[in-house]
Amino acid sequence: MIKYCANLLSALLLVLTACASDVSQPDVGGGQGEPGDLSSYFISPALCADEEGPECASLRLGDPHLTTTSPARGKLFACSGGNPNAPGSDQTRITWIDWAAGTWNLLTKPFLPSGSFSPGEGVARVSESDDVRSVVINNLPVDEKIGDWPMTKYPELSAIDRNPGVPAARSFTFNIPIEPVVNETPFCTSLGAIGVTLNGVVLYNAVDARGNDAVAHEIVDEFGGHPAMSDYHYHFLPERLDSAPMADGHSGLVGFIRDGFGLYGYDGSGGLELTNADLDECHGHDHAPMGYHYHATIEYPYTIGCFRGDPEPAFLASTLASESGADADVVPEVDTQAVLPFLERMISHHLQALELTALVPDRSDRVGVRQIAERMRIAQAEEIRLMEYWLQNEISSGVIGDSGEVEPVGMPGMLSPERMQRLRGLEGREFDRLFLRSMVEHHQGAVRMAGALLQRVGPAARGSSIDWFVLHLEAEQAFEVKRMLHMLDDVSS
Ligand SMILES: [Zn+2]
Ligand SMILES: [Zn+2]
Repeated sequence: MIKYCANLLSALLLVLTACASDVSQPDVGGGQGEPGDLSSYFISPALCADEEGPECASLRLGDPHLTTTSPARGKLFACSGGNPNAPGSDQTRITWIDWAAGTWNLLTKPFLPSGSFSPGEGVARVSESDDVRSVVINNLPVDEKIGDWPMTKYPELSAIDRNPGVPAARSFTFNIPIEPVVNETPFCTSLGAIGVTLNGVVLYNAVDARGNDAVAHEIVDEFGGHPAMSDYHYHFLPERLDSAPMADGHSGLVGFIRDGFGLYGYDGSGGLELTNADLDECHGHDHAPMGYHYHATIEYPYTIGCFRGDPEPAFLASTLASESGADADVVPEVDTQAVLPFLERMISHHLQALELTALVPDRSDRVGVRQIAERMRIAQAEEIRLMEYWLQNEISSGVIGDSGEVEPVGMPGMLSPERMQRLRGLEGREFDRLFLRSMVEHHQGAVRMAGALLQRVGPAARGSSIDWFVLHLEAEQAFEVKRMLHMLDDVSS
């Protein structure tokens, strides 16, 4: 029953891994330990075993450090605030947070142990072509280090955090720039994937669906991850992944963030563990030989505070898995009749965007236009897949019910057949100009549709997956519109 590793002096980064193999499953309900005694679920990270870095027994609780206004060091700059009514841990049962002091103790927090659960082999492949780096994963750890999900097998843990999720394979291809550019104005982060680790699992930002510090509140497995329904993810960097330091002791690369900048481990030059004070408001810094890059810390916001570069839209898919497991309503119960036609029309709208982007490879020579078209193609195809999934599953499970009388939802921004025909006949600069202008109108139309839906379903939809989807769509498309308008200036001059 000892799941608790003493502080090891060497091979420290492998400590969790090493200990996991000889852990047996706790005897639930068998009278082991006192009620409320969670000590068999504690872990002893190597990061906490030395004097360097933040003090693991009193880490700053991130809850009040979410900001939606502007980035700041030590804060998480998020595109939207949390939903206080979203499901999550039962705060009255959390013993490791000192609410009065605003701190939490990593060393007295329970972690789901390893056991017999095995979701299959992980995949992570990185390839490069021209300016784009592709990371193909199936969202399972390639080292097969994963806890004994579902957590419902451990009643004393699921009494605190009811997450019923079971991790399963899901393929993603992330296309990010090889040479990202530092923006003057950083970009906010949203729920869902903000990056991908080299061991094949996505990274989420520091907060759960309520907007609380996810690392402090939610129970994860001793390998650092947990599922949102079936989507396994990390909110902080599992220390075993920080295992290949560079010659000067600086941590090695552990993953990529959506904007293309690398995420490195816990140590800076000389092998010293970093704190927020060493990093900028986005949780990165700029030094040779890597240029700008992010670092993990064991204090909130753990991975990034904002995007330094342009976040790529291809990360959408995992944005949509809610943090709240099976408790989440994909479609809000109120006025689902508005949602069904919205999904149908948004799919048609997106299909036209695919038609548009398909014209680009044969007609445009401009690298920027080709790139943004490719990224939009990936994002829109992913969104269509998700909306179709919702339509099929929600209808078959009877959540939506009869559509009854439904007001038509318009499709602003759709291009006329004449405009499509004209585009097909153009090439080069002429094509680029009309393509960009058409896509800007098309995107603005989609954002209007999304806004109209939110207005109709009202506050009842807050926190539902539809809500997240619409917020995501608005943020991504507004961002792409900005980028395309900028390109239009270039093309026209
Ligand atoms: Zn560094
Ligand atoms: Zn999570």
